[in-house]
Amino acid sequence: MNKNHEEYLLLTEKLETIEWALEGSCDDIDCDKYMYKDLLKNKYKPVLEHNFSCVKKLKVEKNAIMRLLSMKKFIKYRYKKCGVCRNLVDSLGSSYLIVSFTKLLDNNHTQWNGIGVHKMCSKKVKIPKGWKKSLL
Ligand SMILES: [Zn+2]
Ligand SMILES: [Zn+2]
Repeated sequence: MNKNHEEYLLLTEKLETIEWALEGSCDDIDCDKYMYKDLLKNKYKPVLEHNFSCVKKLKVEKNAIMRLLSMKKFIKYRYKKCGVCRNLVDSLGSSYLIVSFTKLLDNNHTQWNGIGVHKMCSKKVKIPKGWKKSLL
């Protein structure tokens, strides 16, 4: 794997953490929306309120990461071919959707498979034989 790709994966991982945090699973241990607070029940006393402290910081961080991810060297990792219409789709944009399927194997394990498509194209995804559409 080359350096650009590694950097891209690192940034998108960070972006994902920020998005989870914005949705209410904060990774700031001082925050009342800290994602592991249930595990820390007894001694846990958050001092910050998510809406007033973290959200602003998270949005600033997200913007900074999105700016980095807009660099030319990341284009080929960021834009993927839509599984339906074959045109490029921005995998970090709001029009991107992963349609996923699951299949129950003989050993009772579930196999997962997903294709990235435009939101608009998602209704046209053909479900392969033997697979079921999954909500994940
Ligand atoms: Zn927070
Ligand atoms: Zn498409």
